[in-house]
Amino acid sequence: SHVAAQIAAGEVIERPASVVKELLENSLDANATGISVSIREGGVAEIRVTDNGCGITPDELDLAFRHHATSKLATVDDLRTVSTLGFRGEALPSVAAVARVVCSTRPPDAESGACIEFRHGTRVGQRREGCPPGTSVQVADLFGDLPARRKFLRSASAETARIQEVVTRYALAHPEVRFTLSVDGRETVNTPGSGRLQDVILSVYGSEVAGRMLPVSLVDGEVSVDGYSGAPDLNRRNRSYTTLLVNRRWVYDRSIYYAIEQAYQGSLPERRFPLAVINIGLPSDQVDVNSHPTKREVRFRQGDRLFSLVQRAVREALIAHAP
Ligand code: ADP
Ligand code: MG
Repeated sequence: SHVAAQIAAGEVIERPASVVKELLENSLDANATGISVSIREGGVAEIRVTDNGCGITPDELDLAFRHHATSKLATVDDLRTVSTLGFRGEALPSVAAVARVVCSTRPPDAESGACIEFRHGTRVGQRREGCPPGTSVQVADLFGDLPARRKFLRSASAETARIQEVVTRYALAHPEVRFTLSVDGRETVNTPGSGRLQDVILSVYGSEVAGRMLPVSLVDGEVSVDGYSGAPDLNRRNRSYTTLLVNRRWVYDRSIYYAIEQAYQGSLPERRFPLAVINIGLPSDQVDVNSHPTKREVRFRQGDRLFSLVQRAVREALIAHAP
């Protein structure tokens, strides 16, 4: 039912930044090399995500907005080794349940594209449309008919900050993809898509920071730790400047965050945190990244070993470049 759909949507779509996260993940799963995001009024008035990925064929467009319809899992066995960011088939129907949604899409080799529209859970219609290759999803009037959910949101600037954080982290995780973010018409993120992490760091954090980031690189058997760690004086007031990736996925793990901080061995002032982008590469059966649909917590099979490897990798980077 309509109400059930709106309740279910609440688990996936909590705020504007959750919409942006889900749409970005779909664009990345579609192998886009360019993704542009634009938002108005903290994403409540409008969120638009446009990509140049594989698109959706007109006859599959309706299905993409149905619950549990995903093109990404062939069998249940895949769950353990799933390599796509999405696989539950929940995001698009959840967004369509709580906003006005227009999705225009065309696979690169298709002659024409299609456009489908929803208003707070009701399908308004679908038509053929000439559109550029790729997919564009426009989400307007988020929670427009759910005043209680609207009230739960913070100010437009606070919601904008969360969206800015999400786009930044995905840009750091995917240096090979061009990301742009426009906030109320002003461009705040623009990465080159060169494939080099240092280029993303330069565009996101500026040249002063980029020039003082120290390369981290360590391989131990089938595990690798790589990225950049900031010189101790580049520290920040909170952990949102430490980006942890596992197999290029943005995750959170308390213990690994602690390992990164420990590597600085007292060279960080009280309550200051490192500016760092660290990726752990490991076989997918060594980590469960899908324990919860929206949380970023992961479970490692060899947590202790990873703790020491990350700590060592960052420490070596700091020592190698100590003045
Ligand atoms: P999931 O990502 O878990 O499969 P979603 O509800 O996010 O579920 O998306 C449903 C389906 O719609 C996807 O499996 C995919 O086939 C298609 N899809 C969604 N977004 C895009 C996109 N940007 N480009 C191409 N296909 C997409
Ligand atoms: Mg998805």
